[in-house]
Amino acid sequence: MSNEHTPRRGVLLIVASPSGAGKTSLCRRLMADHGRLELSVSMTTRGIRPGEVADRDYHFVSDAEFQRLIDEDAFLEWADVHGNRYGSPRAPIDRALAEGRDVLFDIDWQGARDIAVKCPEDAVRVFILPPSLEELRRRLVTRSQDAEDVIERRIQNAKGEIEHCGDFDYVFVNDDFDRSYAELAHIYHAERSRRRRNLWVDSYTAALLKEVV
Ligand code: 5GP
Repeated sequence: MSNEHTPRRGVLLIVASPSGAGKTSLCRRLMADHGRLELSVSMTTRGIRPGEVADRDYHFVSDAEFQRLIDEDAFLEWADVHGNRYGSPRAPIDRALAEGRDVLFDIDWQGARDIAVKCPEDAVRVFILPPSLEELRRRLVTRSQDAEDVIERRIQNAKGEIEHCGDFDYVFVNDDFDRSYAELAHIYHAERSRRRRNLWVDSYTAALLKEVV
């Protein structure tokens, strides 16, 4: 018997960082390698960028639709980020947890804080730092999905985001993709193994002890 047995309580793995620190690539790889991990696809009021796919990267909605969803209490959390609104839809998260799956969130510090308050047993917060602000700028320019003034605003926002990394459970610098990926995967594996998430352990150990008595 292994800790793959149900019932278990899923992990809400929240990964935050300033944009350009490499979080999206790390999250995509983690998802590709772990079938039980499901991405929480956020809703956003911002416009779609070249290369993005609607309903894979985000659900793109109007301001009115976003407001309607807030009024219906359809978000586990939502926040204003860089002048647009972003939120994590509640229903797919509840479904995943009920089925013993884990959920990955690629969200900002405000969302991380709110989920940690609402789900203290399940939330694990990871913050990924860029090697430097210069390197962050270089990555944003290379990615060149945003206009220059947007990049400048993102650098300023990065500073604000980094100020909150002290609230996170795990923090590391992404200066090498493979090393950072190993770090993230180790965190995920260790968190999955926590006894409080593996509810099958109690009945299993009870049965085991009966065998030897
Ligand atoms: P971007 O527009 O570059 O895709 O995302 C901007 C920021 O919003 C990123 O830090 C991203 O992680 C964050 N974000 C994306 N979705 C959500 C969400 O559902 N909730 C919160 N709080 N932040 C989000």
